[in-house]
Amino acid sequence: MATKKKAKKTQVQLVKGMKDILPDEQLYWNVVKEKVFKAARDYGFSRIDTPIVEFTNLFKRTVGEDTDIVSKEMYSFVTPGGDKLSLRPENTAGVVRSYIEHGMLNLPQPVKLFYIGPQFRHDKPQAGRYRQFWQFGFEAIGDNDPVIDAQVIIISYNILKELGLDIQIQINSVGDEESRANYMKILRQYYQDKKKDLCVDCKKRLIKSPMRLLDCKVKYCQEMALEAPQMVDYLSDDAKEHFMSVLEYLDEMDVKYSLDPTIVRGLDYYTRTAWEIVELSNEGKLQALGGGGRYDDLAEVLGGRATPAVGFAMGMERIIMKMQENKIEIPKSKDYDVFVAQLGVEARKKALKLFEELREDDFKVTENMSKKGLKDQLDIANKRGAKYTLIMGQKEISDGTVLIRDMESGVQEIIDYKKVKIELRKRLQKKILDSEQKI
Ligand code: ATP
Ligand code: MG
Repeated sequence: MATKKKAKKTQVQLVKGMKDILPDEQLYWNVVKEKVFKAARDYGFSRIDTPIVEFTNLFKRTVGEDTDIVSKEMYSFVTPGGDKLSLRPENTAGVVRSYIEHGMLNLPQPVKLFYIGPQFRHDKPQAGRYRQFWQFGFEAIGDNDPVIDAQVIIISYNILKELGLDIQIQINSVGDEESRANYMKILRQYYQDKKKDLCVDCKKRLIKSPMRLLDCKVKYCQEMALEAPQMVDYLSDDAKEHFMSVLEYLDEMDVKYSLDPTIVRGLDYYTRTAWEIVELSNEGKLQALGGGGRYDDLAEVLGGRATPAVGFAMGMERIIMKMQENKIEIPKSKDYDVFVAQLGVEARKKALKLFEELREDDFKVTENMSKKGLKDQLDIANKRGAKYTLIMGQKEISDGTVLIRDMESGVQEIIDYKKVKIELRKRLQKKILDSEQKI
């Protein structure tokens, strides 16, 4: 009989620039997330989740129409209803929109919020650069005191330091409106006779936003930026005093920083303090792990009341990449106390039930019902760090007992099935006491 051969379908693939985060790598993600949650608790920041989709206008008005993010990198679309929406390329604009919409200015200020979630930019994919990537960020909204800038910088610094990375803050002040108007004139003059050597993008930027030239990634533009007049020399008295004060706090806290006049950040909304964090282990290939700054004008741009604010965002893939490059060890989670092992079909039924009962009673219990041999199951129990294994076979079922094996000493005892929980608790308690005495 002739059988029809099925046409082989082409294999489905991951979308370019996207990334699966597989279970092994999740260990790193968990460590980073826990550090973020701890920092939020320690410094009093509450979590906020804003939608991934916002009106495109939100980003045009805040991040800026002439920035790379808005002009080249946004995933924008029109809905069947005619709304112009975009996948968020960053989260600060969404957080401030939410702050205004929910009247958070009536709360005690500053309102301290943090977020963690995916962002989308149509970037050129490469190591540490994806089209969907995760950021976490901390925002303190409603206070312009330099001590808040310093504290937010310290949070960004401490999270990375405590993850084991050797990092440095690169800091600058991009001034207030008054300082910037003057500085932009000076910058245009500086670049005017060098115009022919600038990259195509920078030629355009020179007219509308000359400060963005300092941030260009093209090598010869970067060289020109190094020689350019510096913002710090053109700060208004007020902006200067604010900046000096931020630096004094950082000195006091022994934060490693360097002044970098080319830090202007790739978004329009920054004012005064601006910083990036780089990892120092492989010089020459410095990719920022994150950055932040003050954005005193953002709320007003969105139609809210003038509200000074400061915050940062960090790229989680880049942090994890650096942790892996630097071979930073992640504690393997050995979270289990008890393994339930079974031998034979009847025992398996009972074992399934015992596992459920222990789980419901909040024992840290695990199993592997698909394994049949005892040796295999004991190996798995060991790998998962179980302190005890409960073994059930035909004999135990007929006797109404369970074998309890101490995984450290290998000693096995028979216990009454009905007393399993009491016996387990007793033994686990004793293990804790013994280990405390060793310390
Ligand atoms: P870059 O100069 O590397 O493009 P950026 O200035 O565009 O960075 P920010 O907008 O400051 O980046 O975002 C803060 C952090 O988010 C970056 O320092 C980086 O760690 C991370 N990030 C930004 N874009 C990407 C991306 N495409 N893939 C992965 N992480 C990213
Ligand atoms: Mg970018």
